[in-house]
Amino acid sequence: MPPLPEWPTRANLGGMQVPAQFQYEKATSVEHALELLGRYGSESRLVAGGHSLIPMMKLRLAQPEALIDINDLDELARISVEEDTLVVGAMVRHADLLDSAIAGEHFPIFHDAERMIADPVVRNRGTVGGSLCQADPSEDLSAAFAAVRAEAVIQGPRGRRTTPVREFFTGPYQTVVEPDELLLQLRVPIRSSASAYEKVERRAGDWAVAAVGAALRLEGDQLAEVGIGLTALGAPQFHAPEAEQFLTGGPATPERFAEAGRIAAQHCNPLADQRGPVDYKRHLAATLTARALGKALSRWRGRNHQEA
Ligand SMILES: Cc1cc2nc3c(=O)[nH]c(=O)nc-3n(C[C@H](O)[C@H](O)[C@H](O)COP(=O)(O)OP(=O)(O)OC[C@H]3O[C@@H](n4cnc5c(N)ncnc54)[C@H](O)[C@@H]3O)c2cc1C
Repeated sequence: MPPLPEWPTRANLGGMQVPAQFQYEKATSVEHALELLGRYGSESRLVAGGHSLIPMMKLRLAQPEALIDINDLDELARISVEEDTLVVGAMVRHADLLDSAIAGEHFPIFHDAERMIADPVVRNRGTVGGSLCQADPSEDLSAAFAAVRAEAVIQGPRGRRTTPVREFFTGPYQTVVEPDELLLQLRVPIRSSASAYEKVERRAGDWAVAAVGAALRLEGDQLAEVGIGLTALGAPQFHAPEAEQFLTGGPATPERFAEAGRIAAQHCNPLADQRGPVDYKRHLAATLTARALGKALSRWRGRNHQEA
């Protein structure tokens, strides 16, 4: 009989797979979380769902001296409408966004995206804020929030500030949130619009090979507003401004959507990896852009009782 595999221990893994030692603090309010961030400085990290941070700690890609747990901050876990704005708290779980009727009514793009993010285990724990702050180049919600032109509200010792999601990301795994700050919520202006999200993945629950979100609003038969979010495609700030500009002010036709897809594909800068070569990903960028725009348009027409 062959020898049984060795049970993983600190020794035989050479330190990998087991996080380095850290302090653990449980924040009881936003103010308390900020106080703890101030106390531990840049060596501390907030932990939300932990689905990205804990694996990184196990691989020693992150070695915070202190983990500040914000899971008890119920005030950050709500989805609400304030006047004409949908407010999504940073601690809203993926599953809650997927279940939210009010979010789905105004922005079906979120339900489209959430249905394809990971699996129920990850969706029950992973958060909207953690996803955006992780800023993984293949993260789905960044493209969805970019398409609908959301704003991010950030709180820190210098007060509260608001930044467009389109200016939130400063690079792969980097955002404008400073080490002593906390993302509070995402705010999406509710205006008459329709939206959709299209993703290609190698198998159910996988990260995107490529994905595109689209939001649009018509005035008469002209596109008055267009948002296109791209993920896993190396598009700066997860969106496609040239394709949006091309479409805005003109009619919503399949030919123009196809041309917008070609423009979006040129704008992005995908990397070849195990999910596919560059030309395949550019092809997906073009196809998914046209498809997401077409789906958003048919939702618009369905809601406005117009003929498709
Ligand atoms: C198996 C698996 C499959 C996945 N598939 C997908 C997928 O298909 N698509 C997709 O988009 N995602 C996917 N994910 C990612 C998942 O959706 C999580 O949402 C994501 O890992 C981060 O959310 P979290 O709440 O777990 O954040 P955490 O891991 O707790 O935190 C991530 C980072 O954000 C920081 N942070 C968290 N909250 C805040 C805050 N409020 N303010 C400031 N900083 C904050 C933390 O300090 C940390 O640096 C997958 C994850 C796993 C494990």
